Amino acid sequence: MNILFVSSEVVPFAKTGGLADVCGSLPIELSKLGHNVSVMMPAYRQVKGHPGIEPLNVKFDIPIGNKIVRGRLLRGTLPNSEVPVFFVEQDEYFDRPELYRYKGEDYKDNCERFSFFCRAALEAIRLVKLDVEVIHCHDWQAGLIPAYLHVEYAHCHGYETIGSLMTIHNLAYQGIFWHWDMLLTGLDWKYFNWHQMEFYGKLNLMKTGLAFADGLNTVSPTYAQEIQSDPLGCGLEGMLQGRRDVLSGIVNGVHYADWNPATDMHLPYKYDVSNWQSGKGACKSALQSELGLPIAPRTPVIGLIGRLAEQKGWDLIMDLMNRWVREADVQFAILGTGEQHFHDHLTWLARDFPHKVGLRLDFNEGLSHRIEAGSDIFLMPSRYEPCGLNQLYSLKYGTVPVVRATGGLKDTVVDATDDNLWNQTATGFSFETYSTSDMEAALSRALDAYHNNPERWNQLVTTGMNQDWSWRKSALEYVELYEQVKARRVQQWERLQELL
Ligand code: ADP
Repeated sequence: MNILFVSSEVVPFAKTGGLADVCGSLPIELSKLGHNVSVMMPAYRQVKGHPGIEPLNVKFDIPIGNKIVRGRLLRGTLPNSEVPVFFVEQDEYFDRPELYRYKGEDYKDNCERFSFFCRAALEAIRLVKLDVEVIHCHDWQAGLIPAYLHVEYAHCHGYETIGSLMTIHNLAYQGIFWHWDMLLTGLDWKYFNWHQMEFYGKLNLMKTGLAFADGLNTVSPTYAQEIQSDPLGCGLEGMLQGRRDVLSGIVNGVHYADWNPATDMHLPYKYDVSNWQSGKGACKSALQSELGLPIAPRTPVIGLIGRLAEQKGWDLIMDLMNRWVREADVQFAILGTGEQHFHDHLTWLARDFPHKVGLRLDFNEGLSHRIEAGSDIFLMPSRYEPCGLNQLYSLKYGTVPVVRATGGLKDTVVDATDDNLWNQTATGFSFETYSTSDMEAALSRALDAYHNNPERWNQLVTTGMNQDWSWRKSALEYVELYEQVKARRVQQWERLQELL
């Protein structure tokens, strides 16, 4: 198949979250399966420093409101692949310090920037003569593409039967703007209604994508269910219920070329399932030393990596840490950036309990690998989690995940109940209710197994390490979805032709 990815983030060029990992890995896996994939993203300031990016002699003029904005295309490839990446260059929009916001404030012209990006992506298809059967649109930044395809490009030669798949990576971010931004999109006001683009009097670009796309999916089957009701539907639950016949969930994969303890270049010692005890032991001492923690082989290290945001359950973690730094024989290895009050609280804990809390408040790829390898337990008590990647890395690195059973965490971590241990499927510990006491109970079960039942611990570690969460499986599921989307679009078009 011929597939075009349109995304605002792609690893290694620009990343703020898991969306970028997906858009850097899935295209490569699809191309290994023999499909013809291209990727389109904005040429941010961060992009321009990357080697191998060349300008193309392709310029375009895009109508935005009552002005015409000029852009041009650059071209590169995804690393270690032939997958082309087209970058939409427009320096006034994209040559900025950060992707969507600066100093905690969203850019005021985000709707304008991404309207331009979506229109430019569609124009680029014609200008560089891309053969496209399905456009895979990611999150609200690409939400206008399905609308443009249905409204403006429906009768344009070469575009008539291009299907669109809209993937929701996190429904909490919807791209909501004041209603006058409708003028920037260039779409008729008749689409500004509560079935399509309007959301409580405002313009909603995620909703737009969900209304017009030929197929919808999210990044785990459980999240696909959860967003059909309150609160995780974030106000769009009704519309998602209405479209549930075309909504599904596919768990993200892991790029094992980067995330494999047997080959990981960031680790001081490499290991696999046959020597995990010695390998992890060595990585643990090195991690303790790197974070300034006492080197204590029998003290469990609890790893935490990620955005310091409400979503990730940091209020529960702080609540528990306040007590455990005094009472429990554990160490915390924490890496993250985010909300200031979490920074402040963690800084205070790390200063007062340096032998219990190893903390780095920055974005550090290498350290994230070393925490995965050197920790015994990985904690993810998310309020909600569309997919989550760190628990998948943890499984591969023999770090037993303790998670809240929500979204992708529920789909990928099997709780160590007696039944699941008996049938050899258990890989971690999970809890249902979002509360400190339930999280503490799950963590205590994990610590009990760690200290008192080495056989059980070994079983959990090795079951997780032997699992395959590679992109291949997910990529095959995506291909099936693309085929459905394509068939649906072609059918619609044929019906339309009969009517004309
Ligand atoms: P989300 O997209 O909600 O932030 P995911 O678990 O899907 O969460 O993906 C987050 C990705 O970003 C993971 O690959 C994680 O390791 C990485 N990451 C998050 N914070 C940091 C950090 N401070 N340093 C290094 N990597 C990080």
